[in-house]
Amino acid sequence: MRILVVEDDAGIANGLRTNLQQRGYAVDVCDGIASAWGALRAERFDAVLLDLGLADGEGGELLHRLRASPPAAGVPALPDPATPVLIVTARDLVSQRIAGLDQGADDYLVKPFDVDELDARLRALLRRAAGRASPTIRYRDIEVDPAARTVLQAGKPVDMSPREFSVLLVLLQARGRVLSRQQIEERLYSWQSAIESNAVEVHIHHLRRKLGSGCIQTMRGVGYFMPQEAL
Ligand code: CA
Repeated sequence: MRILVVEDDAGIANGLRTNLQQRGYAVDVCDGIASAWGALRAERFDAVLLDLGLADGEGGELLHRLRASPPAAGVPALPDPATPVLIVTARDLVSQRIAGLDQGADDYLVKPFDVDELDARLRALLRRAAGRASPTIRYRDIEVDPAARTVLQAGKPVDMSPREFSVLLVLLQARGRVLSRQQIEERLYSWQSAIESNAVEVHIHHLRRKLGSGCIQTMRGVGYFMPQEAL
């Protein structure tokens, strides 16, 4: 899952990056509205952590611009106005929290905060964005727990590397839709990471070996998908 951190305090931004990367997120950092807007127009993020007092203006302005951008129709447009936004700020007045939520933020967290709580709130946002109420994701006989980062198949634990887990989660969240290799890479890697050219193929090969060849399918020349289950 790929997160954009919009934060002008380099110490806080680096702390967030390190902590979230350790938890398996791909993290990119922007220090102002202009650079963050550029990032949102160029890439798809699963969630945005937004500071309010930024060097080049108010974080609320970025939120307003994002929510007012034309909604995606058919082909996913950028920036995606539905991108979940979690405000992370030192402004702790009730009126400020209410204003942030009413401006279109999905959640509001006051600094200083506990990273475990931030991670739990992020998981809740990502869960809601994927249209799920349950904290675990079930697909056929597979059960994935994004919090514990565990996978069960027919009730038995399946060992997988952090990257394999991330690829599985990305495909599961997009269940029924075909994702190109590039779309999968975008959700797995931040700008700073070096991407091995065949990394996604290798992870998918391993996932098929572990979970059965039918769970991830290839659409030749287009990408990969997990078939939507019959209702
Ligand atoms: Ca700030």
